[in-house]
Amino acid sequence: MVKKVFEKPLSWIERIFFIDFIKGLSVTIRHAFSKTITTHYPYEKLTPPKRFRGFFGHKVIDGTEPQPSFNEWTERMKIKVVPGSSRCVVCYLCKKACPVPQLFEIDGKKVEDGKKVVSVFNMNLMLCTFCGFCVDACPVDCLFQSDIHETASYSRKDSILDLEVLERIGKDWQKRREKEPDRIWIDDRQRERLWYENDVRLPEVGR
Ligand code: SF4
Ligand code: SF4
Repeated sequence: MVKKVFEKPLSWIERIFFIDFIKGLSVTIRHAFSKTITTHYPYEKLTPPKRFRGFFGHKVIDGTEPQPSFNEWTERMKIKVVPGSSRCVVCYLCKKACPVPQLFEIDGKKVEDGKKVVSVFNMNLMLCTFCGFCVDACPVDCLFQSDIHETASYSRKDSILDLEVLERIGKDWQKRREKEPDRIWIDDRQRERLWYENDVRLPEVGR
């Protein structure tokens, strides 16, 4: 069956004066002079909303930990509190909540006074679905997902985030975005400000 493309044939005026062509061109010209809503990636980068689920990080101890849960968990798990290092209390709740728990490698080591600190925290993001269950399970607001979304790398090794990288992402986040209101969408004024003032990039994750 032949598909009918035109409902009615073009009139002789439309044929002579290229009416359809002019109509199409007018749309092009109108948009050529209107405000651009796309970005020239990777030269221009938008900052994702604060609740974007990007690369993971560990927030560090800086006096803003959720209380009383942080103190309760450090006492329960016998954790030594070291300012400036990861808030992790080695409770394994993130691993338990994860649908692919084998992507986590978590361990703690004993320090003085019979207390311990987190010593190993590896996440293999090649197995991760970015569902966020692990973040929700963390009782001390340590594990979080940042706005870092440029996750491509040249080697598989770079897909494994270790403790050092997680802490670096956490410190960068706490300095840059922690104080922003916790909203899903950024309003236009805020978006414009972020667009032109910030340049989000992975803080030296590659090794
Ligand atoms: S985001 Fe989901 S799949 Fe990825 S580590 Fe967390 S719980 Fe596991
Ligand atoms: S849930 Fe939080 S505190 Fe517990 S092991 Fe995972 S990151 Fe550490």
